Amino acid sequence: MEITTQFSDLGISSEILRAVEEMGFTTPSPIQSQAIPFILEGRDLIGQAQTGTGKTAAFGIPIIDLVDSELNKPQAIILCPTRELAVQVEGEIQKLSKYHRSINSVAIYGGESIDKQIRVLRKGVQIVVGTPGRVQDHINRGTLKLDSIGIIVLDEADEMLDMGFRDDIEAILQEMPQERQTVFFSATMAKPILDLTRKYQTNPEIIKIAKNELTVSQTEQVYYEVKPSLKMELMTRLMNINNYALSVVFCNTKRMTDEVTESLGARGILAEALHGDLSQAQRDKVMGKFRKGLCSVLVATDVAARGIDVDNVEAVFNYDLPLDEEYYVHRIGRTGRAGKSGTAITFITGRRESMKLRDLERFTKATINKMTPPSVAELV
Ligand code: ADP
Ligand code: MG
Repeated sequence: MEITTQFSDLGISSEILRAVEEMGFTTPSPIQSQAIPFILEGRDLIGQAQTGTGKTAAFGIPIIDLVDSELNKPQAIILCPTRELAVQVEGEIQKLSKYHRSINSVAIYGGESIDKQIRVLRKGVQIVVGTPGRVQDHINRGTLKLDSIGIIVLDEADEMLDMGFRDDIEAILQEMPQERQTVFFSATMAKPILDLTRKYQTNPEIIKIAKNELTVSQTEQVYYEVKPSLKMELMTRLMNINNYALSVVFCNTKRMTDEVTESLGARGILAEALHGDLSQAQRDKVMGKFRKGLCSVLVATDVAARGIDVDNVEAVFNYDLPLDEEYYVHRIGRTGRAGKSGTAITFITGRRESMKLRDLERFTKATINKMTPPSVAELV
């Protein structure tokens, strides 16, 4: 007999149960049902689960119940790798805490006026979500006081280390009160993360959600063999035939994102490029447009698209085959999120790439089905 855990079995407040229900979450995801009780107990924890498995609520829910709403001081810090993620995580916390009237949160990140953030912090917030650099900045200025912090979460810990935030993270961890809870969430658990956990956690509980429990299973994975010169033609055809409301196209280089964006535009498809060279303001603008559906295609590099959670992405195109397996999983995690279905379409050229595709199949334990272009005669 299979026993399904319900949100009401997890020991969380009725206010959160109500909010969760309004958000359309019917049952907790595996990482949520396993992590929430441990965090509520005050344990240190390492949670490993892929993108799209609901990690935000896995720490957001218990944090809201752990903080003292009467105390108007920062009690929880969540570190995220990018500004977009900080905003997204803080947004989810706001939704989850909708019925906890006196719980306030703020997102603090670089590229936004520090004075504005200082004003919000001064008014009194219990939950702070931020990027490591800016959090460190506020700590140094004394505008973020740590004496009441009871829990710190490192969200997407692997990405933060990849992005070079190690020193900031360690500086922040070292300044935290000794008596505190430390929680790591990550899609992968490479050695640098394990080193950090050994240094800064006490007897952590380790929860690992197996690859086959990925939400990726809700994503249909297909591939086309196509010559590079015909990729654009094939992609626009697939977009037109399927009429995807929102799709994300992944390229390996910034130059390719620009090229693809331009070609799509020339074919009357509203596309925007998202890559590391854009300023924060430009990135915000692009993401805002995409979220609102003002452009239907986001053309992105791997780094630029990390962790971004936009609902209703119906298709992900791997215009370039990703450089490694982890990237593939991250990319296709942009679609088929939490109960919605999506399609991941990969273009490959030549024998070497078709061998790499087999590696991807082995890695994801999924079948990537071969498709025939809509009009074979013209495209092959
Ligand atoms: P991760 O951090 O693991 O990549 P997120 O926390 O961003 O995943 O969640 C992915 C999506 O799933 C979000 O849109 C979120 O609102 C949704 N979601 C999270 N938990 C649930 C749930 N229990 N039921 C349905 N949807 C959920
Ligand atoms: Mg996440």
